[in-house]
Amino acid sequence: MVFNKKDFFRDVDTADKERIHSEQVAIAFKQAFASLFPLFFGASVLLFLFTKTPLFSQVALWFSIVIATLLWRFWLLRAYRQYSHDYNTKTWERRFMYVMYTSAAVWGSSAFFLFQTSDQLHQFFLIFLLTGIASVASGTLASLLSMAIVFLLLLLVPMLMVMFLQGEFEFQMMGILVVAYFFLLASASKRIHANIMSALKSKILHQKAMEALDLSEEHFETIFKEAPTGIFYYDINLIVINSNIEMMKKLQIDKEQMIGLDLKKLPDTCLYEAMISATKGEKGYYEGPYVSMIKKVNLWITFQTSPMYNAQREIIGGVAIVTDITERIKAEEKIKHQAYFDALTDIPNRVLMKDRLEQSLSHYRRHGSLVAVMFLDLDHFKSVNDSLGHYVGDLLLIETAARLSRICREGDTVARLGGDEFVILLNDLGTDPLVAVTRAETVAEKIHEVFSTPFDVGAAETITTSSSIGIALVSSEVQSADDLLKFADTAMYQAKKEGRNTTRFYQDQMDQWIKKRLFLENALRSAIKNGELELYYQPVIEISTKKIVGAEALLRWNHPELGLVMPDEIIDIAEESGLIVSIGEWVLREACTQFVHWRSENLSQSHIDRIAINVSAVQFRQSDFVDKVIRIVAESGIVPSMLELELTESTVIDKIDTVIDKMNRLRHAGINISMDDFGTGYSSLAYLKRLPFSTLKIDRSFVRDIMSDADDAALVETILSMASIFKFDVIAEGVETIEQFRFLENHGCQYFQGYLCSKPVQVSQFEELLTHDVQNCSVQG
Ligand code: C2E
Ligand code: CA
Ligand code: CA
Repeated sequence: MVFNKKDFFRDVDTADKERIHSEQVAIAFKQAFASLFPLFFGASVLLFLFTKTPLFSQVALWFSIVIATLLWRFWLLRAYRQYSHDYNTKTWERRFMYVMYTSAAVWGSSAFFLFQTSDQLHQFFLIFLLTGIASVASGTLASLLSMAIVFLLLLLVPMLMVMFLQGEFEFQMMGILVVAYFFLLASASKRIHANIMSALKSKILHQKAMEALDLSEEHFETIFKEAPTGIFYYDINLIVINSNIEMMKKLQIDKEQMIGLDLKKLPDTCLYEAMISATKGEKGYYEGPYVSMIKKVNLWITFQTSPMYNAQREIIGGVAIVTDITERIKAEEKIKHQAYFDALTDIPNRVLMKDRLEQSLSHYRRHGSLVAVMFLDLDHFKSVNDSLGHYVGDLLLIETAARLSRICREGDTVARLGGDEFVILLNDLGTDPLVAVTRAETVAEKIHEVFSTPFDVGAAETITTSSSIGIALVSSEVQSADDLLKFADTAMYQAKKEGRNTTRFYQDQMDQWIKKRLFLENALRSAIKNGELELYYQPVIEISTKKIVGAEALLRWNHPELGLVMPDEIIDIAEESGLIVSIGEWVLREACTQFVHWRSENLSQSHIDRIAINVSAVQFRQSDFVDKVIRIVAESGIVPSMLELELTESTVIDKIDTVIDKMNRLRHAGINISMDDFGTGYSSLAYLKRLPFSTLKIDRSFVRDIMSDADDAALVETILSMASIFKFDVIAEGVETIEQFRFLENHGCQYFQGYLCSKPVQVSQFEELLTHDVQNCSVQG
């Protein structure tokens, strides 16, 4: 090995260089100590050999100098042992150099005794001693190479000088050998030096690496323990290996529960994917709600995972860092809430109301679904505030907000604009302005009604108040939310002017609709008498045979001026005015008679064995409803089990005991009852099971989207499987495509109605459908 200083120190910094240097000096000191005794011994033998010679006194003097240098050396070595850290390496090296060079010079000077004695034995001993010392020194001083070389020179040069000067050929030859010997020793020394240096370098680098490792482990430990976030790591099977305190605090569990915890079995599975990612060598991330395992605390967290490797770079698990951001999310939600809700009443404020109104308006523009805005304020609120104080005024507003919210439907918005001004947004009022106005009016009536109950707001007396209501319905002249609000506001001032506790519609538009309604109501009154009502029939098809097995009777009104009026426009007005009772009776009689006619006529080939009739809630609530039905059934001669009355959820949801009683009486008489528009209400199947229905009709809004909306498809599937458990027949309404048909067929639905087979049609057309070939519906495939 050859020592090359430049290469050697390439990857070593100054501090390391100093450490290496001090190690070099330390080695030299240690070795020098070991040679103390041999040197003393060698010097003593020399003294002894010269005892009886004339040179003795000189040798004795030399010997005492040797002893002095040895003592010096001994003293220095001890000092180094004790105080090595008090002085820097250079100082020690310099002191060591003085001692060693002095020692070399003293020993070298012994060569002058060489030719003053004639005893060859003495001469050999001397040469032997000096070359021996040289050989030892070339090793012991090798850590400080230049010192070793100088030492050798100081030791050997005097001997060489005397050898050559002495002039004898043999000694001169010996001198040459000594020169060769010097070079030999020097190169040996150099090799040893290189070895020492590389060993030292390795040692220093290793030490450094160890220190760095210690440091990084220490850092990791500190981070792991002290970090304000939860950290834990787990093995490849998702078993927790270790966790910091913060993590356990957050989960509210102790160390025993945490370590060894099987993460696969966590009840909240939302973290699973992120944890698994780490074991596959990827980073994982989750942000969102999390329910803690034992205490079931609702948190909002961010959860980051990274793979964990062993020294061979194999994945041995994952590290997870969990940050609890619940507070932040709560704060954000609070801020959001404050931005959109009124601080006093906690109902939507102007901002949220306007936002929702914009949405409703765009819905109106796209689908024609009508919206109304009601503007209302409390009559005499100012005097309540002035006489009873703001506190009572506030309580009155809070109670008002609560009452208004109670009477509105889920999709409607009750908002407070400030002061005693409230706005109610009525959504989904249908597409017919007449119907919409009627509904808005109904809500307004309810509001006047709830205000008629006195307010108990902790004041000495209860407060009685009333409200003025202005209503504006969306129309083509409404360009923006502000327009509609302005109209409603104007209408409200009109209401106030006309006396308190009143409702006013925004004039221009409303006048016409109200007039139209009055006109329709009057016209409807004479419609039965004039024979303007007609029933259309829509076939009901059995899915397995694709045959028409029944019909639903649907009302139409042939008005001499308006033309064909659809039931959506008729029913509301008929219900409002009570005309529905006589219309319903007419429908029942007409449909039964028609059906009996079909059964008895030349349609005996037909499979039609049921007729369905829609019954309105107002009609059903009549106390003599059941008797009337039974009477008409008897009069028409229809087999009762072939009649099916269609009720909606809203009809049966109120006064359940009376409803069940009426339904039972109908069933007793053999009449079937089906649940119409199923799915649009809120009742569960289990609730409906208490009622004696035989058939469910799935509302067409669900059927419409079964091919495109997974939720609707799942809902229809669920209805079908529940219905089969509860043993209901199911009719799917509004089937328009063959795909929808297939879906229903595959999921066990028994019957359907819809344009796929036929629209509701007049009697003659229906008869044609029945006699047509094998009365097969046009469903293909
Ligand atoms: P409903 O009982 O749900 O009747 C089904 C409605 O869906 C009918 O509208 C029918 O024309 C329509 N329809 C049937 N198949 C399809 C289809 O494939 N696609 C689409 N888009 N629509 C389809 P109609 O005749 O306008 O009746 C509307 C509602 O008026 C009825 O809904 C029912 O609630 C009520 N109604 C009709 N006739 C009477 C009646 O005599 N008495 C009472 N009380 N209500 C009636
Ligand atoms: Ca129906
Ligand atoms: Ca229906």
